[in-house]
Amino acid sequence: MRRSPLACLLLVCVASAVLQAQTAVPANAPYKNAHLAPEKRVADLLSRMTIEEKASLLSGSGWMESMAIERLGIPSIHMADGPMGVRSWMGSSAVTSAANPAVKIETTSFPAGVTMAATWDTELVGREGQAIAQEVKALGRDMILGPTVNINRVPLWGRNFEGYGEDPYLSSRLGVAYIKAVQGEGVIPSVKHFAANNEEFERHRIDAHIDPRTLHEIYLPAFKAAVQEANVWNVMSAYNKLNGTYCAENATLLTDILKKEFGFKGFVVSDWGSTYSTAGTVNAGMDLEMPGGAPMKAMISSPRSQLSGNSGGWLEADKVLAEVKAGHISEAALNDNVGRILRVLFVSGLFDHPHAAGGEVDTPAQQAVARQGATEGIVLLKNAGSLLPLDATKIHSIAVIGPNAAVARTGGGGSSLVRPKHSVTPLDGIREHSVPVTYALGVGMEGENPAQDTAEARAKLLQAAVDAAAKADVAVVVVGRYAKLEGESFDVKTMDLPAGQDELIEAVEKANPRTVVVLNTGDPVTMSKWLAQTPALVEMWYGGQEGGHALASILFGDANPSGKLPVSFPKEWKDSPAAANYPGENLKVNYAEGIYVGYRYFDTKNIEPQFPFGFGLSYTSFAYSGLAVTPGKAAGNQPVQVSLKVKNTGTRAGAEVVELYVHDGHAKIDRPARELKGFRRVDLKPGEEQTVHFTLDRAALSYWSPEKKDWTADPGTFEIQIGASSRDIRLHASLELVR
Ligand code: BGC
Repeated sequence: MRRSPLACLLLVCVASAVLQAQTAVPANAPYKNAHLAPEKRVADLLSRMTIEEKASLLSGSGWMESMAIERLGIPSIHMADGPMGVRSWMGSSAVTSAANPAVKIETTSFPAGVTMAATWDTELVGREGQAIAQEVKALGRDMILGPTVNINRVPLWGRNFEGYGEDPYLSSRLGVAYIKAVQGEGVIPSVKHFAANNEEFERHRIDAHIDPRTLHEIYLPAFKAAVQEANVWNVMSAYNKLNGTYCAENATLLTDILKKEFGFKGFVVSDWGSTYSTAGTVNAGMDLEMPGGAPMKAMISSPRSQLSGNSGGWLEADKVLAEVKAGHISEAALNDNVGRILRVLFVSGLFDHPHAAGGEVDTPAQQAVARQGATEGIVLLKNAGSLLPLDATKIHSIAVIGPNAAVARTGGGGSSLVRPKHSVTPLDGIREHSVPVTYALGVGMEGENPAQDTAEARAKLLQAAVDAAAKADVAVVVVGRYAKLEGESFDVKTMDLPAGQDELIEAVEKANPRTVVVLNTGDPVTMSKWLAQTPALVEMWYGGQEGGHALASILFGDANPSGKLPVSFPKEWKDSPAAANYPGENLKVNYAEGIYVGYRYFDTKNIEPQFPFGFGLSYTSFAYSGLAVTPGKAAGNQPVQVSLKVKNTGTRAGAEVVELYVHDGHAKIDRPARELKGFRRVDLKPGEEQTVHFTLDRAALSYWSPEKKDWTADPGTFEIQIGASSRDIRLHASLELVR
């Protein structure tokens, strides 16, 4: 009987697989030696693997598990969603599925990414990353799917709350802190979503068109920093297309930029159900497709996925093998993919020391980190007549009002939403202070309870709130969104507050001029209807399980507000830089605003935002002085030292975030009015003064030149600006770059 060459090859492969499978691996095989360099272990292990075994590692075995190979002792990587805590991994939406209590996993719910960004506290973000990684290990998992470092391009992106705001420098610093801390615990982080996942609208089909300069200056820096400064072990690709090609099969992105230009040594994982081809995906540099196995099959065959465009199953072993055999995927490519996964198993220590479940989560130490993050992240936006802090000894009653007052809206919706064991609502937190409190809902949360949505019910709720406010010394109105209005897989419908909330604020303010408005949102909202009449305004974002404690400690002055906005608040949607180019047409979104995102746009085009980037008030005041830039004339890559003094000139201890911006007015190319290149949080007692130091390198002065296809700085005079926000520049000095 004659056999075709392919059949012969298959027979040989099967025979060699059988032989290999029977070959016991010696106990002293070099790859098992934890003292050997990871690269040597990878090479040795690869040499012992059959091609089938290699192919099998390219797709997951379940919803959150990679494939294991018992013969070789290769463990499965057990993943869990993040980034703001460990989410249940037992299925796509298991954690929020009350119908399936058997699979609910309860952990500490940390503040959202945007809240942590508002702290501008890299040390605290590091402690948050460490606490999350410790919970990951305590639950016997190995990998946390975070941080999210996508830039807030439009205030309507449903996942803005997960990320670190609009600025690439701030996002980079915080991402690096989180990643280093997670890896320090031997847990694999996944920096996501690479790249340009900046809207949820048609997220499986949308094609983001972005010029190279904008990509390098705005959308890639946080990933580059993750690779080059934190040596991140894993990058998750994005669902969307970038410049015509799906991110999961985008060789420019995954190979040319990530692996070659940035020098990434870890492995790339696909976002869940984002693959559309076999050879194209593998060859572009995708190392691991997730999910796999039966959950993947269930996902792609569901009507929901078919409607949305979710796709997967392309890197299953048999499909990969067929492409290898057809010569469309080389064994070298396979070795590179598999080698990257193996390397991370060795470097992280997972190969040698698997994590065993059974540890404690939601410990007092973890709760303390969550609470500190929620507190430091709160931004005081307005405080006319010093209504805040409330003096519990002088106030006899508080009316706590609003659809977000008596329920803990800990985070936005989707894969990041953690189910905590317990959570503190704003009302709970306020009640812990010794002032009599009344509560009124005021208005039902849009879409939550139809019974509250009739004209009669609405009128009754509003009247009860007005009565409560009128009788109280102070009214606190907690408004905002919730997981079904702001979350993953859909964008926020409007910058306006949900139905009836503006009217509630207006009515309460009329009833009681001593009204504090609290925003519980992940994005800016329009405030034009009531802001002028509002004496005090607080943005608490999504504060995780400790949000209510954090809010109350700010309202009563137990903590001094120190958060600053990581995102500009436009006055209205039409003012936002990308309003004209969102969500795109015919599934294509043109990033026509280029590098002019956030304050780069508002400050350069002289458009007044409602509240600027970097803005946040305190109960004390700070004075800046003595800016020194040395040397004032720098050559080449000579580091430049910048120092200044900041003094607490008020009567309360507090923390100030000092922001350093660079202005380049002489470049050969247009540059924004200013770009953030440094920041420091300084804790100061009343009257205390400290010197703050920054070091600037050439990168801080550079832009990405489309002509040179590289970063460059044009010699000439730069201005160093020190500010309390992007619109409150307190000190200036010049710096000359001579060549
Ligand atoms: C999200 C990712 C998440 C993954 C796994 C995707 O839909 O975009 O951020 O990590 O699901 O749940």
